[in-house]
Amino acid sequence: MKTELINTMIKTWRKLDGGALLKAVILNEADARVAVSSSFGAESAVLLGLVAEIDPSTPVLTVDTGKLFDETIEYRNRLVDHFGLLDVRIVSAPLGLIDSTDADGDLHQSNPDLCCQVRKVMPHAQAAADFDILITGRKQFHGEGRQALPTVNIEGQHIKVNPLATWSEADIEDAFQTHQIPRHPLVVEGYRSIGCATCTLKTGTGQNARAGRWAGQTKTECGLHSATFDTFQFKFAENRQ
Ligand code: SF4
Repeated sequence: MKTELINTMIKTWRKLDGGALLKAVILNEADARVAVSSSFGAESAVLLGLVAEIDPSTPVLTVDTGKLFDETIEYRNRLVDHFGLLDVRIVSAPLGLIDSTDADGDLHQSNPDLCCQVRKVMPHAQAAADFDILITGRKQFHGEGRQALPTVNIEGQHIKVNPLATWSEADIEDAFQTHQIPRHPLVVEGYRSIGCATCTLKTGTGQNARAGRWAGQTKTECGLHSATFDTFQFKFAENRQ
């Protein structure tokens, strides 16, 4: 029954975007458990502001990899205060796992996929397991495989909702200015997409926003989200029927 209801709702959600989509998802009538996944990076504040307007107690999952810029941690604290976010969950890999896989702290150089798996994907997956729907800030204009990103897609056991998928760079800029949203301090230095300090460079003129992520490598995603976008029907896990 619940699966049927949520698939009916997904059909409606696919006709929406931005704040209207967020409102429909966060206030959903199917008792689906909703969280936001955020890096508190260059553009994250636009999505967080829209979420806070609807319900500031919406859980926000964010990973501290131990390799973040200090500026990102300061910005995260600032945005929590600015928007009055009430349930930000900072997750990290257990120290024992870091010690056994990346004792020297340079795994990002020798095996960045494994480093992302240990420091980002695993702790995020553990926190995300408590939810049915994850809201992301992904956008088509970031390119690197995201051009086909729909506003709602299915990834494994999660419905991914991407309210800003079709927004342009100008739309994001407009939101920052209209709502006077604080900027990540590294944006003015030329960073347009911000991940770990060890794997992020400034973005050059004419490059897409994510060009500074794992620059010079074939890697374009950390693995938190799928690079392909399944739009099959969602099925609640057995224990959620
Ligand atoms: S972005 Fe770099 S440092 Fe961060 S988890 Fe991935 S490989 Fe490791």
